[in-house]
Amino acid sequence: MPTFLQVFDFYTNLNEFYGVLTEHCTQANCPAMAAGPSLNFMYTQPADRKQVSLAAPTYIDSVFALIQGLLDNEDMFPTHSGRDFLPTFPATVRHVYRQLLRVFAHLYWSHFEDVLHLRAEPHFNSLFAHFLAFGREYQLLDQKDLTADVAITALWEKWKAKGILVE
Ligand SMILES: [Zn+2]
Repeated sequence: MPTFLQVFDFYTNLNEFYGVLTEHCTQANCPAMAAGPSLNFMYTQPADRKQVSLAAPTYIDSVFALIQGLLDNEDMFPTHSGRDFLPTFPATVRHVYRQLLRVFAHLYWSHFEDVLHLRAEPHFNSLFAHFLAFGREYQLLDQKDLTADVAITALWEKWKAKGILVE
């Protein structure tokens, strides 16, 4: 279980990375959470499970706020109290992983030029490669998520060709 917690390190890194892209990822530039020519991720509202379309910065802020809330929640992370993890913890981690994958997908699809401009491509690619490898190792990666997404599938193939990802 504790290795599972590494998924939150990806959040920290991605959050930091997103910080330098926020001037490009605006309501005007990104009115939807786009990740492909006809792929816009819908946000599921926690309160009523309703799917809504959000501008990418709003979507990403909501994801990051959700994850930060989990990290701050002592019931979710009983690290200091000697209690057990909640039985729902694996499902929570899976959900977090999936949302982070969507953030990566949006950044690759809509902001790769910005990433290149910042000369941050090696760092970003390496973060994503680790993220994917981690997802595979802990079976957090839903193949459905990849095949539904043109941008990620192309990258996935690229990583495999480069030998970064091993089937
Ligand atoms: Zn954006």
